[in-house]
Amino acid sequence: MSSLANMYRTSWSSKPEAELKAIVECDMADLQTVTNHQMGYPYNLAFKDQLYPALTEFLINHLGDPNQGGQYGVNVFQKELEVVEIFKKLWGGERLNEALWGYVSSSGTENNIWAVHTAVKGLIGKHEGREPVVLCSEEGHYSFDKAADMMRIKLFKIRANRDGSINIGALRNALQVHRDVPIILGLMSGTTVKEGHDDIAAALQLIKETGRPRQDFYIHVDGALSAAFLPLVNAPANINPGFWHDIDSISASGHKFIGCPVPCGVLVMKKMHNDVVAKSVEYIKSNDTTLAGSRSGFVVYFLWLRLFALGADGMMNLALSGIKLAGEIGEQFKAAGVDVLHNTNAVTVCFPQPSQEIINKYSLLCQQGYAHIVVMQNILDTRPEGFVGARAFAREYLEWWNKQ
Ligand SMILES: *Cc1c(COP(=O)(O)O)cnc(C)c1O
Repeated sequence: MSSLANMYRTSWSSKPEAELKAIVECDMADLQTVTNHQMGYPYNLAFKDQLYPALTEFLINHLGDPNQGGQYGVNVFQKELEVVEIFKKLWGGERLNEALWGYVSSSGTENNIWAVHTAVKGLIGKHEGREPVVLCSEEGHYSFDKAADMMRIKLFKIRANRDGSINIGALRNALQVHRDVPIILGLMSGTTVKEGHDDIAAALQLIKETGRPRQDFYIHVDGALSAAFLPLVNAPANINPGFWHDIDSISASGHKFIGCPVPCGVLVMKKMHNDVVAKSVEYIKSNDTTLAGSRSGFVVYFLWLRLFALGADGMMNLALSGIKLAGEIGEQFKAAGVDVLHNTNAVTVCFPQPSQEIINKYSLLCQQGYAHIVVMQNILDTRPEGFVGARAFAREYLEWWNKQ
């Protein structure tokens, strides 16, 4: 052992390069097998054609606000702005007279945490001494609980309907109960398990009916999966996520529907909210307006590549194909007597959970006796080579079902 290593209480030896290579190759083979069968989590894994491995040779790091750039030169801030522009358009931002602000984050979770933080800061500023509460449906993502915990504020869960959407009557009651405090409302565009769509228009109507000033509320739409495609598929106006409703912010994950080899997300909010949290930092020559200090520029580049490789038409077609195939599998399961749930405009099919063997083979996500598959690009009929399709899963599931 070298004398330098001896200085530390814990030490480990290096491995020869050949051994490291063998380990990586073995892991890659395992990862490939699992990747080819994965259909429980809403990840579009069909991104390989647009992967430029050479990009990983650079530490593309985005320190600071995409609108201001920064002193660290190895960046692609221009591409981040283009990505954010696309999402602003996708979410109806052009119809607003108000400026919007957005950035590429590390995940859907970061989006929710940063939205709640921004909301708390703004609401507390306006309502000295009155702590806001967070309201979201019981099918809402656990990141809202985490965000509320981090901000040391209370979160109340609202009852959800069978299709996974928030129960509007229960929301009306909650707004009444919390009539004396500022409210952060988290609405879901595509719940994690059932891909339920909260009725955004109805929720906003309730807020109007409270008669309280709009500044008593902050409304965030969590569209981790669905906000990336619902505006492209002619979804009904009341569930269509975006600034055609009087919301404050909206977000999506980048590695879910869009497809990215590293987790990421996009958050867009009204600029006036972001101004509340912005602080100038001299040595990055930028404003600190994002949760993370260092942010991956690699994912920014990758999102940009995916968005422009697909175009709006390509994304729309992926969504329509996924919705159609999910619907077909739903009908097939229903005909076989399976207790199935497939929401309109959704790519998710829920069903009673099968054997542990099938669950593991397809990386199925399970909750309260139910499992689901999410029809992403890599399990469509037109999927890239190597992937196992949704129909193969459906056959295996029905074989198992018929034996029960
Ligand atoms: C997946 C998901 C999230 C969290 O997104 P990550 O990118 O996994 O952090 C948030 N909300 C909903 C509804 C989700 O399905």
